[in-house]
Amino acid sequence: MPMPPPKPTTGQTDDVPGRTSTKDPAISDMTESPAHSGAPTIDTVTASAYSIPTDQPEGDGTLAWDKTTMVCVTVAAGGMTGLGWTYAPPATAHLVEEMFGPQLRGRPALAIAAIDEGLRVMLRNAGVRGLVSYALSAVDVALWDLKAQLLGVSLADLLGPARSDVPVYGSGGFTTYDAKTLERQVRGWLSEGVGAVKIKIAEDAGGDVAQDLRRVEQVRGLIGADTELFVDANGGYSRKQAVRVGRVLDDHDVHWFEEPVSSQDKDGLAEIRALLDLDIAAGEYADELPEVRRLCEVVDCLQLDATRCGGISGWLRGAAVAAAHGLEVSGHCAPYVHLAVAAATPNFRHLERFHDHVRIEQRFLEGTQELRFGVLRADAAQLGHGFRLKSEDLAPYRVA
Ligand SMILES: [Mg+2]
Repeated sequence: MPMPPPKPTTGQTDDVPGRTSTKDPAISDMTESPAHSGAPTIDTVTASAYSIPTDQPEGDGTLAWDKTTMVCVTVAAGGMTGLGWTYAPPATAHLVEEMFGPQLRGRPALAIAAIDEGLRVMLRNAGVRGLVSYALSAVDVALWDLKAQLLGVSLADLLGPARSDVPVYGSGGFTTYDAKTLERQVRGWLSEGVGAVKIKIAEDAGGDVAQDLRRVEQVRGLIGADTELFVDANGGYSRKQAVRVGRVLDDHDVHWFEEPVSSQDKDGLAEIRALLDLDIAAGEYADELPEVRRLCEVVDCLQLDATRCGGISGWLRGAAVAAAHGLEVSGHCAPYVHLAVAAATPNFRHLERFHDHVRIEQRFLEGTQELRFGVLRADAAQLGHGFRLKSEDLAPYRVA
């Protein structure tokens, strides 16, 4: 007769009025059922954050930065350890260890949906958007990696591939780059065989449109007519300004106009989309499904980020909502998190090879592959997703 899972305490007893238990009953109700009683239980949860300097100053239409923080989560059970990660402030690591850890330890590791539901109930008063959703996402990715390992399969096979090749596009083209740096980066992407490249525009929050269009012309000249050109304004334009710029972009055969205005401005996205030929894209901040649904009503392609939208589970649900709207989804940043789930998504379009994250993931993760012929492939020969942290290399950059 298998022993029931231990009953850990959270130390937070009263954030839900009327509850006096030392743990959240919603989690125990869903994860301690007899169906799960023989499954491996989670024994360890860790979280750490690493701030890694950029290779040179980076910026877009509305922000500039000189370092990127990667938050890594491990969840262990049955002698296996799953790894998840997100790009978020160091406080995300504290959230995972201090708030989620006590809820996770002792739970059946395979019951991902029940764990997720339980955490969301526990977070009712704290809120589940933004940074909290990024924390949930990293935990979910770790749980899926762990589940595949416990079942002795790759994450790609656990999810079930819809395709073998995952098309990737080059992304960077920061507004902080001079013309020579931009050219070097674009030529690098072309040498990797990508079918599309994306640059940042809306420099100075739309304050230098002439410079935006010069850079678009430069890149179109570099890539020729056969490679698709995407631009990302990061919400830097006003509505009318975005329409005026968009008409010129249409003339340059630009295929993709990302966040011409803030993705919070759904009416604006809809208006701009109705007036331009190119695809309007947004979704990188989408966390909960109602936000995904609202975005699906105003974009031509939905962007999803598994490190923000609830991990592998959130991606699968978001992609289903997009499919119900007749839309494809595109993976935002963190390319190696997305490989297996992108391959498993029938309405998947492409994955973003974001310069900053590719640099970090190829340097600090074992198991990454070089991009060839514009595609990556999920490695079905590995247990789980197959990526492991190079902890010693990362140690000097630890901030939490
Ligand atoms: Mg973007």
